[in-house]
Formats: sequence, structure tokens, C-alpha cells
Amino acid sequence: MDFRLTDEQALIQETAIRFGKKWGPRMEEIKKRTIAEGAFPDEWWRDFAAAGFTGALLPEEYGGSNMGMAAMAIAMEAMAGQGCGSALVMLTMMDALCILRAGPDEARRRYLPAIAKGEMKMAFAITEPDAGSNSFKMRTTAVRRGNEIVLNGTKTFITGVDVADRVLVIARSMTSAEREEKGLPKIAGFNVVIVDPKAKGFTMTELNTEGIEGLKQWTLHFDDVIVEQLIGEEHQGIVPMFDVLNAERTLATASAIGMTDRLLDRACSYARERKVFGDRAIGSYQAIQHPLAEIKSELEAVRLLFYKAAVLFDQNAPPQEIGPIATMAKYLAGELAIRAADQALQTHGGNGFDRDYGLIQSFVDTRLLRTAPISREMILNQVAEHVLRLPRSY
Ligand SMILES: Cc1cc2nc3c(=O)[nH]c(=O)nc-3n(C[C@H](O)[C@H](O)[C@H](O)COP(=O)(O)OP(=O)(O)OC[C@H]3O[C@@H](n4cnc5c(N)ncnc54)[C@H](O)[C@@H]3O)c2cc1C
Repeated sequence: MDFRLTDEQALIQETAIRFGKKWGPRMEEIKKRTIAEGAFPDEWWRDFAAAGFTGALLPEEYGGSNMGMAAMAIAMEAMAGQGCGSALVMLTMMDALCILRAGPDEARRRYLPAIAKGEMKMAFAITEPDAGSNSFKMRTTAVRRGNEIVLNGTKTFITGVDVADRVLVIARSMTSAEREEKGLPKIAGFNVVIVDPKAKGFTMTELNTEGIEGLKQWTLHFDDVIVEQLIGEEHQGIVPMFDVLNAERTLATASAIGMTDRLLDRACSYARERKVFGDRAIGSYQAIQHPLAEIKSELEAVRLLFYKAAVLFDQNAPPQEIGPIATMAKYLAGELAIRAADQALQTHGGNGFDRDYGLIQSFVDTRLLRTAPISREMILNQVAEHVLRLPRSY
């Protein structure tokens, strides 16, 4: 085991920090523009691509730099640490990884070079009004009709569809009743497909959610939408589905760790300066120091688990092996980020509530991690059932 970053990883981290320092101070303006114009600023995405990040997970034959998941995760963590995280990066990267791993070749050639060049951004849709924590209850179908696969149904809470060029959708390749009739197991009968939001029959309604990093959420309605591309084998969508979910969890962990780093940094900077009693800064009081020192200690431990998940990806471990590590890392990182936001706010006293300090928004951004992309309860259920082999209660 080697706990130091390689020279290449250190270089990537430095590049990401430079990128973050350049764009971090403008992120508030970028979020406002994304919301107002319904388009993610091109200059940000082009710069991000020019730094080699959009192709980080992709091999050279598709225009990528093949840096791998560990390097990408380190970069995302470093960018979030500079206040420059973007859920659109996470969504595009996890979809790219899914296309790369599941194929077919035709799909790799069709999408990956465009993603690597920074010409394609992607959203991801699995949640339905009655199927969030329980994805197996989903009803949206992507069913073959002759040479085409046709999508029908509804997805909800889907982030960034207004600014994305394509959406990767998880749907049923047959209804639950048909699957049961055929005696197939619960994990059978899924298709992972790519659709163009401009396709005929694709409509969407904006949700009144708090949003993520300037990105809105949408309910998508599919009415006989012709699918552009099937990913992986027909009816065998479960493997690419777990691939994409594991990548999502790992990249969400990167954001959580970066946010925690930033919140700690903000809290410590303030605590070093703010004087309340006499000439001593509040950072000298142990009631202020200790919670921050605790968060820092836990952050270093969580980071190790997070790197383990990322390295397992790079070693091409099967989804079942990556899954528990990726979800446990996401659970710990999410809970820690929430505590870091709370403690940063507490350290700032009343100023923490002043919107200009940006801490109140961090409270919302970090809190989302307890609910999405997978809730705290569902992670603990999975760990209990699949790692500890305890009986399922639901
Ligand atoms: C801002 C935002 C952005 C999102 N972006 C996307 C996106 O881009 N794409 C996408 O597909 N989805 C997205 N989602 C959806 C998100 O993944 C779901 O909201 C999340 O998985 C929870 O599902 P649900 O909302 O249906 O909650 P429910 O499934 O209704 O759960 C409600 C509560 O009950 C708990 N619960 C449910 N079952 C159990 C159980 N067996 N044991 C214990 N507790 C249980 C849950 O943990 C939760 O606390 C987003 C959501 C939000 C809020």
C-alpha cells in the first residue's frame, strides 16, 4: 500500500486547485446565470475540458487522458475544496464511465469523444414519483418495437436536464408482470438507454426544489420517445445500472470531502481572526477548536475509504465489490459534511446567517447528501443486509 499520491495524481490535484481558484470566486455568478439562461456557461466547461478533466476517465482512443477514477476523484475533491464543484461534472462523468464499461462499441464511439472534447454534457434519470429509494418499483419502460426501443413513463427530481445534451435513463425492458410471468429474478428486465431531450414525445416540468449548485430539478415525461442508444445488453441493464450508481456515489463523496475541507478552512480562518473576549481569537477556545479538530481527524479517515473506492474502480473490480465501499464512503462523507457546515456556521456566530458569507447555502448543499443520490437509511440498510448479512426488515 502506498498512501502518497503519484506524481501524476499530484499534478492533477494542482491543476484542479488552479482551476478551482480561477473559477471558485465566480461560481455564484455562474449558478445565477445557469438558472436564468437555462445553459451552463460554455467558457467554464471549455476550460474544464481544456484542463483534461472531461476526458479523465476515458482511454486515449476516445480522446481521453485515461487518468482513472482515483485521479478524477482527487480533482473533483480539489475543485469542491475551492468552492468550484458542479453536479453536472458528476453526472456527465458517471454516465461516461457507464458507457465506457458497458458499451457497445458503437455507443463508445458515438458519445465518448464528444464528452472528452467538452462538447456533450449529460444528465441521469432513475428516480420516479413512486420509486426513489426502491428503484425496483420503477414503471418507466424502454421496450423494443421492431428495430427501435421506445421509452414511456415519468422520471422525477432529474437534475440539470435543461443544460444537458443527453439523458441516461434506467427503465424496464418489460413490465414487472411480464418479468414475473417469465419467472425471471427481480434484477432482470432492465434497459439502460440514452435519449435526446429534444426528441419527439420528451417533455419536462420544472420542480420547485432548492436545487444543487445552480442546477434545477425536473420531472420528465416520455410519450413514445424513440431511444437514441441502448447501453449494454438488452434486458441486462442491472450491471451498467450498478456501475453508474457506484460511480455516482464515489463522485458525490468527492464533492462531500471537498466541501468539508472548504468549510473547515472557512471556520478556521474566521476563528483565527474573530476576537470576542479581550485579545484572544475565538479559535483559541477549545469549545471552538475541538469540534473542528474532530472533523479534521474524521475527514482524513473518510478520505482513505473514498480513495479505496476510487482505486477499486481503476482496478476494474466488479460492481458488487465496489458497491459497499463506495456507499459506506458516501455515507460517512455526507454526514461529516453536514457536521462541518453546522460547525462552520456555529463558529461564525450571527455572521453565519448573513447570505453574503455563503454558509447558509452550504447548509442546504451538504444536507442534500443525506437524501441523495442515495439516502442515509438506504445505505445503512444495504450495509446491514449485504455486508453484515442481517435479515431485511422491509
Ligand atoms: C435536489 C435533488 C436532486 C436530485 N437529482 C436526481 C437526479 O439527477 N437523478 C435521479 O434519478 N434522482 C435525483 N434525485 C432523487 C433522489 O435520488 C431521491 O430523492 C432519493 O433517492 C430518495 O428517494 P425519494 O425522494 O423517493 O424518497 P422515498 O423513497 O420516498 O423515501 C422517503 C424517506 O423514507 C426513507 N426510507 C424509504 N425506504 C426505507 C427503508 N426500507 N428503510 C428505512 N428508511 C426508508 C428514505 O431514506 C427517506 O428518508 C434528486 C433529489 C433531490 C432532492
